[in-house]
Amino acid sequence: MATRDEILHELKLAPEWRLRDRARRGAGTDAGDDARADLPEPAPGRVAPSPPRIVSVEDPAARRARIAALDWEQFDADVAACTACGLCRTRNKAVPGVGDRHAEWLFVGEGPGAEEDAKGEPFVGQAGRLLDSMLAALGMARGRNVYIANVVKCRPPGNRTPEPGEAEACRPYLERQIALIRPRIIVALGKSAASLLLATDATIASLRGRRHRYGDTPLVVTYHPAYLLRSLPDKAKAWEDLVFARRVATSVPPAAPPVS
Ligand code: SF4
Repeated sequence: MATRDEILHELKLAPEWRLRDRARRGAGTDAGDDARADLPEPAPGRVAPSPPRIVSVEDPAARRARIAALDWEQFDADVAACTACGLCRTRNKAVPGVGDRHAEWLFVGEGPGAEEDAKGEPFVGQAGRLLDSMLAALGMARGRNVYIANVVKCRPPGNRTPEPGEAEACRPYLERQIALIRPRIIVALGKSAASLLLATDATIASLRGRRHRYGDTPLVVTYHPAYLLRSLPDKAKAWEDLVFARRVATSVPPAAPPVS
């Protein structure tokens, strides 16, 4: 098994980690599962808040059925116009997801942060660079056999954890993405994704290292990259999780061709 230093070298993160570690020491958390509790806020005034929006009164069952029939072309526009939960009031850009629509790997995080909210793309900040490094260490890249999405498509204010009602309101979109992509494996990044996809309140520590299922699709749980930026020992565990996920992915036959 690779040593910690070898893993960090492979992920090209050791120098960055040490700098961040010193900067953050004393302000950290031992929660281990939350994604962005102490990530920096954007510079004040960098992104002007959107005006308040009215939350949708669309019948939930009708909405689920409508979203379940969206094609890719309709999907992003629908998310961008969504007002099904209060997060629509404070987002700048909705962040539907990014990557290869025929990917075998689907990574699911928690929700957009400040940079993602500004750019409309998931995982573009420090956590995104770590995720890219982890993908590269596996010989993969976002957009090449990889799709990246979040539990909620709009940024929770202050980078707080999405509330259960917000995650439930956004669930039809994630379910539609899974149905369209038909990935070979899903990797749940952090507790919000694991909780929603596995319907459990268990900790990441208790869920990782095991093969779960979402419907017919194998699912592996690991830490959220934003949490890994604060936890050196768990970065090595995350690498083990991804190696495990690759083993799981190669053990199952490819899914049938995705819905076009
Ligand atoms: S978080 Fe999801 S459900 Fe809530 S407004 Fe955004 S797209 Fe709609």
